[in-house]
Amino acid sequence: MNTTKNNKIVIVGAGFVGTTLAWCLSCHYNGEIILIDKGQAGNGVTKQAFAWLNVSYGRPDAYSKLRQQAINEWHYLDRQTNGKLNINWSGAISWQETESATREFIDAYSESDFNVKALTKTELQTLEPQLATLPELAAFATEEGAVDPLHATQVLLQEALNNGVTYLPETEVTAINYDGKQILGIATSQGVICADQVILTAGVGIISLMEKLGEQLPLSASPSIIVQYQHQAETPFVRHIISTPDMEVRPISGTTLLAAEDYLNDCPENSATCIALNALPVIKKAFIGSDSLCLGKASVGMRPIPKDEMPIVGKVADYRGLYMISMHSAITLAPLICRLAQEEIINDTEQAALNPYRLTRFSAEGL
Ligand SMILES: Cc1cc2nc3c(=O)[nH]c(=O)nc-3n(C[C@H](O)[C@H](O)[C@H](O)COP(=O)(O)OP(=O)(O)OC[C@H]3O[C@@H](n4cnc5c(N)ncnc54)[C@H](O)[C@@H]3O)c2cc1C
Repeated sequence: MNTTKNNKIVIVGAGFVGTTLAWCLSCHYNGEIILIDKGQAGNGVTKQAFAWLNVSYGRPDAYSKLRQQAINEWHYLDRQTNGKLNINWSGAISWQETESATREFIDAYSESDFNVKALTKTELQTLEPQLATLPELAAFATEEGAVDPLHATQVLLQEALNNGVTYLPETEVTAINYDGKQILGIATSQGVICADQVILTAGVGIISLMEKLGEQLPLSASPSIIVQYQHQAETPFVRHIISTPDMEVRPISGTTLLAAEDYLNDCPENSATCIALNALPVIKKAFIGSDSLCLGKASVGMRPIPKDEMPIVGKVADYRGLYMISMHSAITLAPLICRLAQEEIINDTEQAALNPYRLTRFSAEGL
């Protein structure tokens, strides 16, 4: 394979970010778009996401607003893709260590357009009748939801393919080719591809690709554990996304629960399976009728997390033709961030909403 240059955009990495971007670009761009992955689309950390579409708490105001906009963007994306994404807009119930902390959490949203309701014990019991122990106060983020991240990636990939995107799975990008500061394309396990623009959406793979350019990104691979539990209860005993100091769970089918757990270290006693088995009695104790709950599978996913935990979006250093998108909570944020990025990539029109998230902020703040 040795393709020639023709207003070509190459996207490196077909996780949720790269695939969403490919779809966004394909709706507006007439030139060639190639989406490349060293494996199969969605099989990086995307398929291990808890995939809760949520507004982060306790973060800077502007970032919180960005996440609120991102939830609205999911509604737009849902309409654009005719409901094929199967988003579950059940809302999320949470509480904190203390009642006053839960009150603070609810109050933090009282001035915003984002709906977080205070639930009394009785109201909570109506929503989650099988909770064994109820706090005095809980928060209900009615506008939050969740998706199957792999399904969402595959839907967007199919839409992008329908719009003419070329998808090259099982093709590893081994280097970014450049002349001085001008990007020329990429070298892959299948040959060289020339391109006018190279967009890096390779998750944690961006780190080594940039190292080959001599650039050290303020980005690390951060492990987290995802668990599937199975049960045979006739009535599902968890109905919403539930986040408490003890657990983060949501139902993904009538017989399967998904849970996210913190990664501790690489000691055998803290393997994904051990952590998942330790969490099992905690979840069973929390829900009446959960006796049949047992471990399905557990694994560690490596999340790309920028040093200050905010997204990194935009041109890279002073290379011409190089752009990157990397973020924590990319399932929530990608539809919004990719739509904004699409404007910058195709039309070179800077999007003010992305300005706080440039790579240059790290050199400015000496991070
Ligand atoms: C336990 C857990 C819970 C999570 N919960 C949430 C949540 O509730 N909400 C939320 O929004 N986010 C959540 N996340 C985070 C979310 O999973 C990530 O932010 C998101 O999946 C990142 O997507 P990505 O496309 O950047 O990366 P990836 O999915 O890793 O995609 C990158 C792709 O690039 C490819 N690639 C890498 N290097 C190369 C190369 N050299 N050549 C070619 N291809 C390459 C890989 O094969 C991969 O397919 C969670 C993550 C974990 C682990």
